[in-house]
Amino acid sequence: EPREKLSLQNFEELLPRSFPPCMRRLVEKQRETTKHLKHAGRLQLRPFLKACGFTFEESCQWWKKELCRDPLITSETYEKSYHYDNEHAYGKKGHHQGQNCFGCPKIIGSPGEAPGQVHGCVFKQLEPSALQNQLQRWQVPLPAMMEIQRLIKEGKHYQLACIEYFKSQHPLSDGEGVGNSPVDFFRSSVRFHKE
Ligand code: SF4
Repeated sequence: EPREKLSLQNFEELLPRSFPPCMRRLVEKQRETTKHLKHAGRLQLRPFLKACGFTFEESCQWWKKELCRDPLITSETYEKSYHYDNEHAYGKKGHHQGQNCFGCPKIIGSPGEAPGQVHGCVFKQLEPSALQNQLQRWQVPLPAMMEIQRLIKEGKHYQLACIEYFKSQHPLSDGEGVGNSPVDFFRSSVRFHKE
């Protein structure tokens, strides 16, 4: 049976259900602030959406709609300055092979966020109180939240924290396969919901 793939039709359902925290935060922040994602965030998110199943056409539609929430980006600016990134990600131009989604170690190793930027791993990027607020907004139950905080405080175990998050959202799951790559998180979640 073919795996459920991300599409424009199921996007709003899968965003809270199956997106890893790093990618969910990028999408939600961009919507909340109506400030477009800066380069590092787009570079992190775009190949992920592709790996989860967005076709080139879906990617073009989605990015245009989301980036144009920012009043500073008109349809024309989008076509002129941002459309190329889709072609690049899907290997549509020149000799490019297209882009693959970064793994967790690379995302965790991203530089800190400058003002206006959103990227990186939630567990590494956010200060303890901001992380707590974020996890509360995502309705992570208290015991899981405390375990996540402990893992980070005691050993900077960001990937294990991500497994805890996964387990809190997928009851009775052991979180196997989570913590290596955001795409693995997504696939584990999709598998969980199919079983
Ligand atoms: Fe994303 Fe990996 Fe961090 Fe989880 S551990 S939030 S999948 S970068």
